[in-house]
Amino acid sequence: MSDCIFCKIVAGEIPSETVYEDDAVLAFLTIKPKADTHILVIPKQHIVNFADVQEHEWPLLQKVLQSVQHIARQEKLEGYRLITNNGELGGQEVFHMHWHILAGKNLPSF
Ligand code: AMP
Ligand code: ZN
Repeated sequence: MSDCIFCKIVAGEIPSETVYEDDAVLAFLTIKPKADTHILVIPKQHIVNFADVQEHEWPLLQKVLQSVQHIARQEKLEGYRLITNNGELGGQEVFHMHWHILAGKNLPSF
């Protein structure tokens, strides 16, 4: 999508600090970290959010989640929190599906 900030990151039109990349998935550091480690994992293809995943897109979601596991091992995270916000009421600000990997000391408890 032309006005999507994460599509622009995928296209290389906006810089980001890449943590992991393959043919379908990109992971990069957030500009506003909420934890010692705060990585965003996105499909390169524009999908609005988890709630909007269509039947034919489940294989792509699997790739995204496999990448999360790969990145956590690559970054040697001993423990981490995985969050995906859905919709404005769910706290979503960027409407291109992304999974937050949060790790480090003092993660707030729910
Ligand atoms: P959410 O509130 O779940 O939609 O999260 C949006 C995330 O995107 C937040 O962690 C923002 O800091 C992050 N973000 C927004 N713009 C950029 C950018 N240009 N580069 C990296 N992260 C970004
Ligand atoms: Zn997008």
